[in-house]
Amino acid sequence: MENIHGHCVCGAVEIVIKKYGDVVYTCHCDTCRRMNSGPVLSVDPGPKENVIFAAGVEKITIYNDEDVERGFCSICGSTLFWHDPEKNHYCMNAELFDDIVKAAAFNLELFYDMKPGYYAFAGERKRLDRNFREM
Ligand SMILES: [Zn+2]
Ligand SMILES: [Zn+2]
Repeated sequence: MENIHGHCVCGAVEIVIKKYGDVVYTCHCDTCRRMNSGPVLSVDPGPKENVIFAAGVEKITIYNDEDVERGFCSICGSTLFWHDPEKNHYCMNAELFDDIVKAAAFNLELFYDMKPGYYAFAGERKRLDRNFREM
């Protein structure tokens, strides 16, 4: 897919991913779950050259979480992205992008060892622990 448009709940922030496949992954880490009231489902567009902040950049609030930035909409609170500036790497809330989640391939669960017992996704897929070792 090319030029995939996404937006937050209130619509103030618009983001375009220039090129993407269909992969969606989840993260079960403590921070993602606390920020999102559950495991966040994400896409991995990679470098900032693949991402266009098309509207509402001034509405984005950044929370500096150690070496990475977690961005959210300051109006509606939608989770927008995780960004590692040193590695030039973005991961974004998959649910911003209707066209991706319509036919997503959900194939990876990260920080699986941090997942609490009360929920689990159905089906089989690759699961990695906090050290990126397969479980
Ligand atoms: Zn918003
Ligand atoms: Zn996480």
